[in-house]
Amino acid sequence: MTGKTHASCGLLVGALTIEYFQTDLFTSITVITLAVISSLLPDICHAQSKIGRRFKIISFIVRKLFGHRTFTHSILFMAIIAGLLYFIQSPIYYLVTIIFGLLSHVILDMLTPRGVKLFYPIPISVRFPLVFKTGGLVDGALASALTFGALYVLFQPFFIELISKWL
Ligand SMILES: [Zn+2]
Repeated sequence: MTGKTHASCGLLVGALTIEYFQTDLFTSITVITLAVISSLLPDICHAQSKIGRRFKIISFIVRKLFGHRTFTHSILFMAIIAGLLYFIQSPIYYLVTIIFGLLSHVILDMLTPRGVKLFYPIPISVRFPLVFKTGGLVDGALASALTFGALYVLFQPFFIELISKWL
């Protein structure tokens, strides 16, 4: 999937997290930012990705060490990040938004023909039975739908008020 699709999904994860935990404004902004970063982070192994271009050296090291779409797209990676966050006693809403952001990335990549090495270091590619081409029509539609979903969750009280005024 494109970086745009991943970021939209991250936005939705962040919106749902702040909705669920009812966080204050400052925390909410942090939660959404972390979700979007996490939703892009696994592609640090890819030099041409949004995040890979920004952190060239880290991207290079990760790619040399593990290859593309392997370690950073695995359950192992998510478990290590969760462990680290737990260790530094990160608030639960930060932990949730980061882990679900990462998870959203992996799930979306499982919808592409190439799949992901979910069980790295076990070298099997995992993907859904139904897959879509990156940058294709479905990818683009998915990005729009996810953004719309995120905006709806974020502005839900406003929408409800608007509708109730009209009725
Ligand atoms: Zn990826």
